[in-house]
Amino acid sequence: MNGAFRVPSPENEPVRPYAPGDPERESLKSVLNEVAAAEVEIPLIIGGKEIHTGTMKDVIMPHRHGHVIARCHRAGPDEIQQAVAASQEAFGEWSAMPFADRAAIFLRAADLLAGPWRDIVNASTMLGQSKTVHQAEIDAACELIDFLRFNLHFAERIYAEQPMSSPGMWNRTEYRPLEGFVYAVSPFNFTSIGGNLSSAPAIMGNTVVWKPSSTALLSSYYLMRLFEAAGLPPGVINFLPGNPAEVTEGMLGSPHFAGVHFTGSTAVFQSLWKTVGVRIGDYRSYPRLVGETGGKDFIIAHPSADPAGLRTAIVRGSFEYQGQKCSAASRIYIPASIWADMEAGLVEETRSLTMGDPVDFRNFMCAVIDKKAFDKIKGYIDRAQASADADVIAGGECDDSEGYYIRPTIIRAHKPDYESMREEIFGPVVTIYVYPDNAWAETLELVDSGSAYALTGAVFAEDRRAVAEASHALRFTAGNFYVNDKPSGAVVGQQPFGGARASGTNDKAGSALNLLRWTSPQSIKETLVPATDYRYPFMGAE
Ligand code: NAD
Repeated sequence: MNGAFRVPSPENEPVRPYAPGDPERESLKSVLNEVAAAEVEIPLIIGGKEIHTGTMKDVIMPHRHGHVIARCHRAGPDEIQQAVAASQEAFGEWSAMPFADRAAIFLRAADLLAGPWRDIVNASTMLGQSKTVHQAEIDAACELIDFLRFNLHFAERIYAEQPMSSPGMWNRTEYRPLEGFVYAVSPFNFTSIGGNLSSAPAIMGNTVVWKPSSTALLSSYYLMRLFEAAGLPPGVINFLPGNPAEVTEGMLGSPHFAGVHFTGSTAVFQSLWKTVGVRIGDYRSYPRLVGETGGKDFIIAHPSADPAGLRTAIVRGSFEYQGQKCSAASRIYIPASIWADMEAGLVEETRSLTMGDPVDFRNFMCAVIDKKAFDKIKGYIDRAQASADADVIAGGECDDSEGYYIRPTIIRAHKPDYESMREEIFGPVVTIYVYPDNAWAETLELVDSGSAYALTGAVFAEDRRAVAEASHALRFTAGNFYVNDKPSGAVVGQQPFGGARASGTNDKAGSALNLLRWTSPQSIKETLVPATDYRYPFMGAE
C-alpha cells in the first residue's frame, strides 16, 4: 500500500465521573459483582498459546484477603525458555510488519479499552489492587488508552525524523527494533504501567516477554487478552507470571536479551542492572536498561503559600490510592506560621477520610496491597509512636483482620532526617517537618539533600520570587516538578513522567524519549550515480 499514513491525532481520554445515576456506574457495578463472584483461572500465554503449569498462585482482594478472585499458573524453567523462543520466532514477521499495521492493532486496543473492555479492566483493578473507582478509571482505563494513542503518535514522529542529503545521494534512517527481545517487568500499583511496559517496545517493532506483578495478576491478564482481541500476533508479547527471581534469571541469562523495561522498586532495578553488568560479554548487543523506580516525593511550602490549597494537596497527594503511587507526597516542609494556621484543619480532614471496600463508592481509600506492605508500613508507624523524634498526629490505626487496612497517618518529625522523611514507605503515611519561617533557603537545601530519590516534588507559594528560587534550587531534586499543585497525577502527553537519581533512568514513560530507547537506528546512504574513477582532482598533474 502506498501513502504516508498518519495515525489519528491523540487526545487525552476523558475521565468518567461514575456519579450516582450515571449509566456507566450501573454497568461497572454489575461487572464488579461478576468479578467478585468468579474464580478465574489465569494461564501463561506463550506464542499465543495458553499454558497451564499447575503451579498456582491465589489472587486475592487486598480489602478482603480471604476472598480469592483468581488462580494463576506460574512459569517453571521450561516455560521461561519457551517464552524466549516464542519471542524470537515472532520477531521476523513482527519487526518487518509495516508500521501502519502495527499501529492499527494498538489503536484498536485503545478503542476496545475505551469501550467494551473498560468495565472488566477497571473492575479487576478495583478488586485485585484495591482501588476506588476514580483511581482505577484514571489508571487502568484513561492512562493506558493515552499511553497507546500518544505512543503511536510519538512513534510516527520519530520515524519522520530523517537526515539531510547532499547532492548526488539520498540518506535515510531506518528505526530498527532491538535485535533480541525486551523483558518487561511491571509493578502492582498501576495497571496502565504493565500495559505500557509491554506495548511500548512492541509498538517500535520489538517482541516482548512480560512478567506481570504477582499482586496485579487479574488486571494484567485482561490486558493481555485485550491485546490479543485487538489482533496482536502470537509471540509478540508473551505473558509470563512466575517467581520474579527465577523468571528474571532466565531472561537475563539469554544471549537474545536486548533490554529491560522496568518499573518497581529501586533495589530490584539495581539488582537487574548489576546482573546485566556482570554478564555484559554474553549478550549480542548492549542491552537497554530503562527503569522507573522509587520516590520520596516532597511538598515545600513558602510562608506566602495558600494554606487551603496546601492542605488539599497534602490530603490528595499523600493518601489517594493509600499512598501507593511512586509520585505520592510523603515529606512535607511547612513554615511555622502556616502550620499554626492549618494543623487542626489538616488533622481533622485526614481523620474524616472514608476507607473501605472499593465497591462502596463512598470510600476515598481502600486497603494496602498485601501483608508484606502492611507490615512494612505499620513498622514505620510503630517506630514513630515510640520515638522521641516524632509524633503521630493523625491516624496510626492498622487492622489486617479482614483486609490490609491502614488509616491515613500523619507523622510530625522533629528533625528533618527522621527515617520517615528519608525512606520510601509506599503507604498512607505522610511526614511533616515544620521549619522556622526565616529558614527558607536552608530548607530548600534540606529538601534537595534529604533523600536519595528525585522523582516528583511541589512548591506552594504565592510569592513569585519564592517559586523561582525553589524551581532553581530543586532543579535536580524532581523529574516532575509542580507549582501550587500536588506532586501526583501526571497525564500522558502533558507532563511526561520519570525521575533521576535513585528514582530511575528518567526516560519519561509515554513520550518519544522512551520510545527512542526501543530502537536501534540504521543510517542508510545511497549514492545516486556512483563514481567511476578513484582519482581525486587534487591528484591532477601540476
Ligand atoms: P517491586 O520492586 O517489588 O516489584 C516490581 C516488579 O519487580 C514486579 O514485577 C516484581 O515481581 C519484580 N521483582 C520483585 N523482586 C524481583 C527480583 N528479585 N528480581 C526480579 N524481579 C523482581 O515493586 P512494587 O511493590 O510492585 O511497586 C512499588 C515500587 O515501584 C515503588 O518503589 C514505587 O516507587 C515504584 N514505582 C515507580 C514508578 C515510577 O514511574 N518511577 C511507578 C510505579 C511504581
